[in-house]
Amino acid sequence: MMLPCGCGLPHCFGRRALIAMTIAGAIAPSGGKAAPASAGPADPTLIDDLVVGNHILFDQGVVDGFGHISARHDKDPARYLLARSMAPALVTANDIMEFDLDSTPVDPRGRTPYLERFIHGAIYQARPDVQAIVHSHSPSVIPFANTKIALRPMNHIASFLGTDTPVFEIRTTGGDATDMLIRNNALGKALATTLGPQAVALMRGHGSVAVGQSVKLVVFRAVYTEVNARIEAEALSMGGKPEFLNAKEAAAATQTNEHLVGRPWELWKRHAEQNR
Ligand code: MN
Repeated sequence: MMLPCGCGLPHCFGRRALIAMTIAGAIAPSGGKAAPASAGPADPTLIDDLVVGNHILFDQGVVDGFGHISARHDKDPARYLLARSMAPALVTANDIMEFDLDSTPVDPRGRTPYLERFIHGAIYQARPDVQAIVHSHSPSVIPFANTKIALRPMNHIASFLGTDTPVFEIRTTGGDATDMLIRNNALGKALATTLGPQAVALMRGHGSVAVGQSVKLVVFRAVYTEVNARIEAEALSMGGKPEFLNAKEAAAATQTNEHLVGRPWELWKRHAEQNR
């Protein structure tokens, strides 16, 4: 875009760039915005983790035909990686697309992106600490999203839930006639605001989102959010009032667990790949 014209005037450089961007935007096939520049090839280990993460989430019952996992690009924090619109269990490295943080694809090459990719872009914008995101409709979580019964950690493994799991209400931003999908940046931003500094947010009438500082950590959190919902529902069905981890216990356990995510990852990876 930055084409020197040879006149030597410093402002000319910027004007040429602006004109070039305007022309590119006007002819962009996606309707308005020019395709963002690529950050270049991502670390192959990151791509491999992202592909394996897709497979694990299906094998562990977190996603089915729906749901997705993304990773922030290792070469540029303003880009993220997410599969094209497809069932996670079938994702290969060739299906991974690159997006800017407005969730515009860098190089679609005819591939269709997920309608709800705005979940990912908006959270990466709001949370510089987040390196990976899972969105799912994992079934045991939804009763907590719809009833206002708090989802809280039943044991140390789910300590990342802290003392409160926020619930996103789409009607506040989207009105009472949406299809429930996070299909634009305004809804994505509202979801990111509800998430705040937390690791997990529930979505009323929809599912949940988990975030983490690595692909392995976010897969761990997505799996154990589902497990925790199951065992909390079991405790509630016994008629009891569960005693949850308190804030200090949750914080201490979370610090410990962050060093242990490799153990279940290796197990889940082998199991998922054997079952494919
Ligand atoms: Mn969804």
